[in-house]
Amino acid sequence: MRVADGSFGPVRIEVRIGDIAAQGDVDAVVNAANADLAPGSGVAGAIHRAAGPGLHAECRPLAPIETGQCVLTGGHDLAVAHVIHCLGPVYGRDDPADELLAGCYRGALRLADEQGLASVAFPAISTGVFGYPLRDAAMVALEAVRGVADDLTHVRVVRFVLFEEIGLSVFRDALRRLTAG
Ligand code: ADP
Repeated sequence: MRVADGSFGPVRIEVRIGDIAAQGDVDAVVNAANADLAPGSGVAGAIHRAAGPGLHAECRPLAPIETGQCVLTGGHDLAVAHVIHCLGPVYGRDDPADELLAGCYRGALRLADEQGLASVAFPAISTGVFGYPLRDAAMVALEAVRGVADDLTHVRVVRFVLFEEIGLSVFRDALRRLTAG
């Protein structure tokens, strides 16, 4: 199965395989940013490549950001109107990693809600070069969304976009566990 869906209160949760930089039918995508809000590798590289140099120009005066912090920019050449840049924890260096990672999801959703956005797509923040174990990161991410879902007044769809099959199955299993009872 390549998709999995569920809900936390009023918020529909979608789990998908895909490229975060190629999402078109959401109001914002989240960037797994670096502190400098620069292009870099992984998600940040893909988003900046697709958005074009205007994104980095908009980011420059907003940098650096702190671990757990989120900032909002336009989408530039992306098909989405907004990018929310979050700096996840480096696993084994930034503590407490779970609180900092949860803070990224909560902060991004709060920003989106303040802007009146209805749908946000996230990558699996910190699970690439920042080394956060995928299974733990999936539970932290979904529990963070569940924790704020009832407080959101505009956001009604949260999509997790995973690059690989393993990510899909890990997030799907975590979603099942959290929506089971
Ligand atoms: P971090 O520095 O926060 O660890 P990365 O960008 O290195 O962020 O990776 C975060 C996760 O996103 C990893 O699981 C990686 O496999 C995945 N990923 C990389 N590129 C993309 C992409 N274009 N779309 C969605 N997920 C991606």
